Amino acid sequence: LAAVILEPVVQGAGGMWFYHPEYLRRLRETCSRYDVLLIADEIATGFGRTGRMFASEWAGITPDILCVGKALTGGYMSFAAVLATEKVAEVISSGSPPEFMHGPTFMGNPLACSIACASLDLLSENSPLPRIGEIEGILRRELAPAAALPQVADVRTLGAIGVIELYRSVDMATLQQRFVDEGVWVRPFGRLVYAMPPYIIKDQELETLARAMVRVVAETE
Ligand SMILES: *Cc1c(COP(=O)(O)O)cnc(C)c1O
Repeated sequence: LAAVILEPVVQGAGGMWFYHPEYLRRLRETCSRYDVLLIADEIATGFGRTGRMFASEWAGITPDILCVGKALTGGYMSFAAVLATEKVAEVISSGSPPEFMHGPTFMGNPLACSIACASLDLLSENSPLPRIGEIEGILRRELAPAAALPQVADVRTLGAIGVIELYRSVDMATLQQRFVDEGVWVRPFGRLVYAMPPYIIKDQELETLARAMVRVVAETE
């Protein structure tokens, strides 16, 4: 066993599950004890999405390898990065040619790098965390009525993530059209209707979005 890879605190496409940070803390301990690397995929959770800058912070842990993407460029351009501890980096870059010589065609694309730098500057000059706290509050308040619907199994919110989980899979095509009719863009999958809105969303826009989610879910069987 060389490594454990997981999405910290929020498991995204695997079901939009939120789990207790204690799990992550104990996993970090176990990995360290057995000299197994811990890889955190923070592509979805990184840069504030869960209410902390990185979801790993909920557990106070540091992974050996960290994957980031998505909000790295604020979504303006396709770009992702892998960060590693010095110990891991030294092994990867040692040897001639290096042990882990691997490069996609457009790796380190200058335009994408420059957008990522600009986005990181914005995030460090003006922390998104207070706003994400407000977004969480609005999502929690506006999605709450869905919990009373008989077709709804669970409603959960963490940071700028709002999830309505149904008992049964939704008909994606029908629902998507209904959302467009409501003036919002939501892409449900399986039993999940969820939103991860941009941090610049206005209160009123967020209310429109969340209310549309509840209204459209209420119409499902
Ligand atoms: C989007 C996503 C990916 C894929 O990232 P790419 O940069 O598109 O390869 C991987 N992991 C998680 C958790 C994601 O949300």
